[in-house]
Parts: sequence; C-alpha cells; structure tokens
Amino acid sequence: MIRKLASLLFGGRARRRAKLLATPFPEKWRPIVRSAVPHLHLLTSVQRQKLENDIRIFLAEKMFVAGGDISITETMRVTIAAGACMLIVALPQLDVFPKLREIIIYPHNFTEEIEAIGPDGRPYAIHRTRSGEAWHRGPVVLAWNTVAQGVASPHDGYNVVIHEFAHVLDMQEGAADGQPPLDTREAREKWVRVFYPAFDKFVDDQRRGRYTLVDPYGATNPAEFFAVASEHFFEQATLLQRFHPDLYDLLRDFYQQDPIQWGGDPRRIPRGIY
Ligand SMILES: [Zn+2]
Repeated sequence: MIRKLASLLFGGRARRRAKLLATPFPEKWRPIVRSAVPHLHLLTSVQRQKLENDIRIFLAEKMFVAGGDISITETMRVTIAAGACMLIVALPQLDVFPKLREIIIYPHNFTEEIEAIGPDGRPYAIHRTRSGEAWHRGPVVLAWNTVAQGVASPHDGYNVVIHEFAHVLDMQEGAADGQPPLDTREAREKWVRVFYPAFDKFVDDQRRGRYTLVDPYGATNPAEFFAVASEHFFEQATLLQRFHPDLYDLLRDFYQQDPIQWGGDPRRIPRGIY
C-alpha cells in the first residue's frame, strides 16, 4: 500500500517534471542566470543542462511568498533559484532541495526579536538585523536588497543565497550540524576528521584575535561555519585555500567544484589586515 502510494506520488512528480523539462528553457531567464552564476561559461554542458533543469524544477515546485511590502518579480525568483541550484550543479545524486517548500522574500534586511534575560532576572527583547534565515523543515527567508548585493559583488565573500542554501543542504538529513549529505562512510568520516577540528581552530583563532578570513559569524556553531565557509569557497577560493587548505579541499570534494580554477577571485589579503 505504502509502496503503491509512493509510486503514485513520485510517478506523478516524475511525469510532471518530464513534461516541464520537455519545454525549452526560457531565453529571457538566461541573462538573469548569467548574473547570478558568474562562472556559468565554465560549466560543462552536462552541468549547464542540470542547472537549467534544476532551476525550472525549483521554480515549479517551490512557493515564493512576499514578506512585507514587495512584489516578487521573475528576476527575483530566477536569481534565487539559479544561486541555489549552482550549489548542487555537480552533485547529480542530490535532488533539488527536496524538503524545502517555501521561500519568503523581504524587501530589506529584517529585524528579529529575541528574548534575553537581564542581570536583574527580567526578560527583555534584543533586536537583531538579519538578511536571511533557513529553518529546519521550514522556509528560507531572504532580504532582496542583500541578495542583489551578493549578485553585484561576487568576490567579497558575502552571498546570502549561498549561505542560506548551504544551511538547507546541511539540514537535508537532520538537524543543522555543519555536515551536508555525504554519500559514503569514508566521506562522512573524513568530514568529522577535518571539518570539526577546523571549526575548533577557527573558534580558538577568533578568541586570540587572529585574522582568519572566514567571517567571525562562523564561530557561532559548526552549522554557521559551514555556511560562511561555503560563501568564501565560491567567492574567495584562492584566499580560502591559503588560510584553510584542508577546509578548501573538503568543500571541493563535497561540492565537486574547484573555484580556484575559475580565476577572478581576490588573491591578496585586503590592505590593513594582517
Ligand atoms: Zn546562517
């Protein structure tokens, strides 16, 4: 019975996808994809095809919801889908973020209210500005101004779409713990051997005030470390490789992409940082 239900469900989905992908990729989306994925011309034809297919599946199966006063345009939807699907372009075994149903777009960075307990033992509210969030079994929330900024500056190491969808990958097989879905036991063991010590060293470097390249926000927990390291991996590959060579290799093995080969990313440490 369960098998029959599954075959009905997935058979239906497979048929819907086949129908969707039988239609040509809309020409007017191509320039949007080119802006969102600056290394598009370096992808193999198989990867490019996968990217275009995944973008269409993403847009057909996920719901975009306006948070606040914003009307969601095609450019916004295609930009976000392209940036997200770029992460899995070389991972044919991964489906298109299967647990994600909804993307909420805010026009600008939004404020989150957290309750804290003061020294007098009474609760008070802290307001934190956020540009994105990814919820376990819930939506991805993105501030469009920050998404657009990420597209405009592809080598500054900040990209909220990469960040939040790295979280989605991390949460694909359970809670956010900094470990994305890995195929083999060997790969999982290597992750434990390399990633968590790299995180511990990063936290220690932060504490000692050493320059680390990776955004200090990564010290929050291993999940944030994976998300911010992914931003640097795709946007500042050469620098990440220099500062965290083991981490670079680990991310290259996971994403099956080697952004150092793409060129164009900064090779020098920004002036004034030692
Ligand atoms: Zn995060």
